[in-house]
Amino acid sequence: MPTLTRKKQSNPRASGRPAAELIFGDLWEFDPAPETADPKLKARYDLFINNKFVPPKSGKYFDSINPANEKKIAEIAYAQAADVDAAYAAAKKAYDTVWGKMPGKERAKYIYRIARLLQDRAREFAVAETIDGGKPIKESRDFDVPMAAAHFFYHAGWADKLDYVAPGRKVAPLGVVGQVIPWNFPLLMLAWKIAPAIAMGNCVVIKPAETTSITALKLGEIFQAAGLPPGVVNIVSGFGDTGAAIMTHPTAAKVAFTGSTEVGKIIMRSIAGTEKKMTMELGGKAANIVFDDAPIDQAVEGIVNGIFFNQGHVCCAGSRLLVHEPVAEAVLTKLKTRIKMLRIGDPLDKNTDIGAINSKEQLKTIQRLVAIGVKEGATMFQPKCDLPAKGYYFRPTVFSDVTMSHQIAREEIFGPVLSVLTFRTLDEAVEKANNTAYGLSAGVWTDKGSRILKMSTELKAGVVWANTYNKFDPTSPFGGYKESGFGREGGRQGLLDYCKLV
Ligand code: NAP
Ligand code: MG
Repeated sequence: MPTLTRKKQSNPRASGRPAAELIFGDLWEFDPAPETADPKLKARYDLFINNKFVPPKSGKYFDSINPANEKKIAEIAYAQAADVDAAYAAAKKAYDTVWGKMPGKERAKYIYRIARLLQDRAREFAVAETIDGGKPIKESRDFDVPMAAAHFFYHAGWADKLDYVAPGRKVAPLGVVGQVIPWNFPLLMLAWKIAPAIAMGNCVVIKPAETTSITALKLGEIFQAAGLPPGVVNIVSGFGDTGAAIMTHPTAAKVAFTGSTEVGKIIMRSIAGTEKKMTMELGGKAANIVFDDAPIDQAVEGIVNGIFFNQGHVCCAGSRLLVHEPVAEAVLTKLKTRIKMLRIGDPLDKNTDIGAINSKEQLKTIQRLVAIGVKEGATMFQPKCDLPAKGYYFRPTVFSDVTMSHQIAREEIFGPVLSVLTFRTLDEAVEKANNTAYGLSAGVWTDKGSRILKMSTELKAGVVWANTYNKFDPTSPFGGYKESGFGREGGRQGLLDYCKLV
């Protein structure tokens, strides 16, 4: 029989009732529930240029690995400068002859078609995304793929209403835009970038990240099926040099980059002095702030979602938890209990909460920073759980007794690692939250509306969530302050970044 233990409550104000913990031991086990839909993978993926899949001019390919078991999934084309030139030539021709001239209501039909075709193949794309990147199937199935389709639907809706993007002014497309994206939300980042660009009438050359190119290149199949005119979207896979060739190409009227602050700075330097417009979506080290009047159980769910969603590979992850001192002990105790219930393992199993770390390199980065946290004197908590023998996995980790000077409180870890700090007053919370080079997002948990308003004004973050975390919507602009970048994606503001006012 499960036992119900009642523990002495350290601070009864925290929840108003004694803390109860259900302990089932190993009485109940989940049966494995692996996903069986066919991801329809190919052994080799070529570049998508001018609506055709073409081999790279160099003939070079690299392997894409399944991080859950370290097995090779497919070979991916490695695009170099000559391929990037061909992609830009196709995009320029499409812009000059077809897409840039087409009325918005006609463009909208293609974009609706893309959204619907993606919905039709949603399960196939979700499985492919999980195999390629390691994220739990419940996330790719219920978040990444539907959200990617939603971005195409939303921007299809805008394509014939562009006069309302900047009321009182007329807008015009920029021309050809170059885009580079990271590996944490491969298909979704692609949709964030492509949908507003083409709705506005631009044509695109885009590069996915090297570890996650498969769903990007699969999307090429959907563009073909949608009858998108050749050259409107060109997808070139490769490494950092491929990305650099896209960002510095003379044909690009604008470049849009999502990735690390470090690479963002290299790109900004390389195109300084040119007429290219740019938007940068870079790193983050968000504060998730819990006040003593917050609903503690909901806040604990928000903390877990804030840092363990997508293994913590989230630019806006709530990686610094700031807790009001009166409830710090209660929050930490409940958080540890909750973390013990998370299931880590096969990303294709629908019961899995935390899947595989995206790559061996990323796993090493997480291990290095966690070792630094231990050395700096923070207290580490990890639940006891078995990890699969093969593949890249890391246990959910919580550091308490963290101070602002600790490296784990300052650097983006981009993994399932939470640093917990405390505060006494609202001013101290604001001071600590803003004391970072980044400014992408923040969370506030409190019962008081006035406090939410005050915090959202004072926090230097592009997005502030109140009593929730990691909520996204195509209608809502997303982007950063300070070293988290500039420009917005989503909403009317996102479209403004893909047009000129005439
Ligand atoms: P990254 O190393 O900066 O790589 C991002 C992309 O840039 C990849 O496609 C990469 O190619 C390419 N790249 C590398 N060097 C380049 C260069 N010199 N010129 C042009 N492109 C180059 O970042 P990541 O490790 O993939 O992603 C994690 C980072 O992205 C985190 O810092 C995270 O916070 C940030 N991010 C930000 C947002 C946001 O909206 N603000 C969203 C998601 C992620 P390769 O893959 O071949 O190296
Ligand atoms: Mg992969």
